[in-house]
Amino acid sequence: MNVVDDKAVVKEYFNNTGFERWQRIYGDGEVNKVQLDIRTGHQQTVDTLLEWLAADNNLEGLSICDAGCGVGSLSIPLAQAKAIVYASDISEKMVGEAKENAAKLFGNNDNPTFSVQDLESLSGNYHTVVCLDVLIHYPQDKAAEMISHLASIAQSRLILSFAPKTPCLSLLKKIGSFFPGASKATRAYLHRETEIVQILEAQGFKIERKAMTKTRFYFSRMLEAVK
Ligand code: SAM
Repeated sequence: MNVVDDKAVVKEYFNNTGFERWQRIYGDGEVNKVQLDIRTGHQQTVDTLLEWLAADNNLEGLSICDAGCGVGSLSIPLAQAKAIVYASDISEKMVGEAKENAAKLFGNNDNPTFSVQDLESLSGNYHTVVCLDVLIHYPQDKAAEMISHLASIAQSRLILSFAPKTPCLSLLKKIGSFFPGASKATRAYLHRETEIVQILEAQGFKIERKAMTKTRFYFSRMLEAVK
């Protein structure tokens, strides 16, 4: 499958069964044990990122692009912290849910702004670009293109998270207990950290902070790269 097919499949998935599944995982209603584990892991990734950004003490007014924003799990707390957030996602269902979640807190104000957009079509210039748990939908050979594009719209910082390609995760993926459910409908791609770092360095970034979130079914390596 090439990236265009992959992308079409991912889009279709996150507008249908994937939407049903992930809006439940990212929500606060009742879920099964596996989904609860993934919800907990994902929240840890979001919390770590919010801690990093809060520690810099410059969030107010900072422009942040949340590429592949899902249901707004990161965009909404960032807007609460008074960053100026530009959130987008390839799935209109995910964006619709994100808008509803934001409206419950902020009414119909324009921060975050949401758009239905494939991340390759994003333009502009943002102090910080964040792309959480989206690389799992990109094969390794397409990661460079995707990351280079995000780097081109990031003035100072690019924060990425991905499922790391380690022997243990590769085995879990093989036996099918890695991201169970999601991988049945979409391909889940693991990424070698050394390759991601090389791509970021080739774009003139250097790694500033790293974190790893690991629960039973959720694995996410997060890198903060700065220029
Ligand atoms: N970043 C969000 C978070 O951490 O809460 C959502 C993560 S979810 C696992 C992956 C999201 O990436 C989905 O909402 C999906 O629609 C979006 N996505 C996948 N490929 C994309 C692309 N090429 N452009 C924009 N969004 C994409």
